Amino acid sequence: MYIGILGIQGAIQDHEKVIKKLNHTPLWVKTKEQFKSIDALILPGGESTTMIKLLKTFDLWSSLSGYINDGLPVFATCAGMILLSKKIDNYQKQDTLDILDIHVDRNGYGRQIQSFETDLSIPEIGEKEYTAIFIRAPKITEYSDKIRVYASYKDTPVLIAQNNILAASFHPELTDDLRIHSFFIDKFVMNKNN
Ligand code: GLN
Repeated sequence: MYIGILGIQGAIQDHEKVIKKLNHTPLWVKTKEQFKSIDALILPGGESTTMIKLLKTFDLWSSLSGYINDGLPVFATCAGMILLSKKIDNYQKQDTLDILDIHVDRNGYGRQIQSFETDLSIPEIGEKEYTAIFIRAPKITEYSDKIRVYASYKDTPVLIAQNNILAASFHPELTDDLRIHSFFIDKFVMNKNN
């Protein structure tokens, strides 16, 4: 499978390494023509405001939303989740793609100094707990019944899905545990175990 990674800003290389380890082909996506060559897209963590600005500068904004609304499988991590949200409650002047039916607070778990690791129970990826790394992560403040919750931390969803989109508040590309990327590819890209 050709797994695109939005390649304009953020934690691109770590996702690339994971995709290679899983024996798929990563492709950095920087132009709208490249959307035609990919089976799925990862929206990496980074700085959502910068990413949003660059998406517009690179003329990717409307084609990105078009491909996602047409069903392109997407895995959004951290800033990627912010980008897809309906609204950023604590930064309302910022545009978002308004595709995931969630509201978020940017840095909702605190600033850099409060970044943390925690063990999550995610039954869909196996019995063993998953150690998630949160870095200035978005906190989901509201979500509708369109959202499926795969994992929560202190009663707040942190791994969710809506149709063709899987989104994590944390950074699955930063651990050696590849189960979440693997779950994305199996379930959302190859439609196994549905
Ligand atoms: N705090 C960042 C933002 O608001 C997201 C952090 C991340 O992606 N690790 O965009």
